[in-house]
Amino acid sequence: MSTIHVNRREVVKALAVMPLARLGRADPDLVLHNGRFYTVNPAQPEASAVAIRDGRLLAIGSNRDMLALAGRRTQRVDLGGRRVFPGFNDAHAHPGESGLQQLMMVACDQTSIDAILALLRQRASVTPPGHWVRGFLYDDAKTPRPLTRADLDSAVPAHPVIVTHRGGHTGFANSLALAAIGATRATPDPPGGHFDRDANGDLNGRVADAVLEAMEAKIPDEATRDDHRRGVELISKLYASRGITSSCEADATPADLQAYQDARDAGVLRYRTYCLMDVNSLDRYIAAGVHTGFGDAMVRIGAIKQFADGSISERTAWLAEPYIGLGDFTGIESGTRESLYENSRKAWKAGFQLATHANGERAIERMLGIYEQLQREAPRRDPRFRLEHCTVVTPQLVARMKALKVIPVPFSGYVNFHGDVLHYYGDERAQRMFAYRSFIDAGLRPPASSDYTASPPAPMLWLYSETTRKDPTGHVWGENQRITLAEALRSMTLNGAYATFEEHDKGSLEVGKWADLAVMAADPFTRSVEEWQSITVERTMLGGQWVYES
Ligand SMILES: [Zn+2]
Repeated sequence: MSTIHVNRREVVKALAVMPLARLGRADPDLVLHNGRFYTVNPAQPEASAVAIRDGRLLAIGSNRDMLALAGRRTQRVDLGGRRVFPGFNDAHAHPGESGLQQLMMVACDQTSIDAILALLRQRASVTPPGHWVRGFLYDDAKTPRPLTRADLDSAVPAHPVIVTHRGGHTGFANSLALAAIGATRATPDPPGGHFDRDANGDLNGRVADAVLEAMEAKIPDEATRDDHRRGVELISKLYASRGITSSCEADATPADLQAYQDARDAGVLRYRTYCLMDVNSLDRYIAAGVHTGFGDAMVRIGAIKQFADGSISERTAWLAEPYIGLGDFTGIESGTRESLYENSRKAWKAGFQLATHANGERAIERMLGIYEQLQREAPRRDPRFRLEHCTVVTPQLVARMKALKVIPVPFSGYVNFHGDVLHYYGDERAQRMFAYRSFIDAGLRPPASSDYTASPPAPMLWLYSETTRKDPTGHVWGENQRITLAEALRSMTLNGAYATFEEHDKGSLEVGKWADLAVMAADPFTRSVEEWQSITVERTMLGGQWVYES
């Protein structure tokens, strides 16, 4: 187009005969200049300035060209040479639930058992007897030894107590909590669940998966609609401070969906959410006539979420070979092939994308088989089947994923944040875990994810972990799976948008896309890797509005 070099004065002259209102409408609302924009668009990888109108990117280019577009009502912001990235995308997390937990539970992310017991005792002192005392964010690999039933009984004898691991698949219960589900020394493990025992065979309080779910079902739900909305508001602030502008709510109930709508209506929702809806309410969604894609750019119905196994950080993923140091234990299978297939088929037929939690090789193998079967029985042109976490793979599994163009959604910060449990998997297996290199080399598009609360929603941690594969002691787990900084940035922006069918609308800084971006205090491209985790976000923009300013 020949107008590229036309300066603003010439444009004004040419439009002088047109009504002023028309001219005003054409002006950008905002020009951000003197920045270093990393666009994730190979056609224009770097730029110094952007012009924004109605929440979207109107133009991207040099300071001179963008400032030339500014009109009388255009706000100009000098970014002082700061590095700018597209807004980050946390493609699998539990923000709604974690916000509610922060409102109603005791945060147990402490490294001392005494400190945790003191917090629980304090909460019990203001909780009516018989009511539950609940802890969250606990990580048994970060205390000298795991919490026991005896610890919890001594600190809180008159209330049932359950402290959940930050991964959400295991909990640590006192005697009253075990009594609430009728569990005794003689109770066997139910299907899909597990009781830990001490050397004498007595229950030591640690419970996993189906047992934890049974216990949680006994706890009265005291959260109000307003509490749910306030939970979303809390996490909105956390996300905005980290530059995260999009997320998938990875197991959304109808109450979560309502909370998002309430938060949006109240003007306190500061990130775009794509809700992976809990399979237990599938019939209700089908009856309401909704399926994947329904909603708007802020709150959208996504895939149907199911579980095929347990957790990596809590050592219950369903593996092909036993854990190291846990006898012949190979993890926990969730659901049956029949139940997973039947729910998948029903959701697929109703027009839903599928997103299934599958960590170990055996869970991934099972779900791939189901996805392949559905694509044979009722093919879709662009199915975008999701495998949530997809942690432990083999070359054969990756080849099948490639054939089906599956989207693996790996944990991004785990090698660093959960490095303290990787000895249960071992160095050999770590070469096939969180397999970003294998996925990208196969042409797949893995996004980034925290699974918050399971690990922190910290994009700079993700960059560090994926590019170095170092745990906090400096040990490297699976060096062969390292990816580059550019690949890691693409995973946490554009690949996240692709995983929700929204790559045309966000995930890179391109004309026409939402003006979602993060202004960084320092540039990882020019800082040493060991400094990355201390890089903070200065400002976050969502749809052309600042939602965070440090
Ligand atoms: Zn999850």
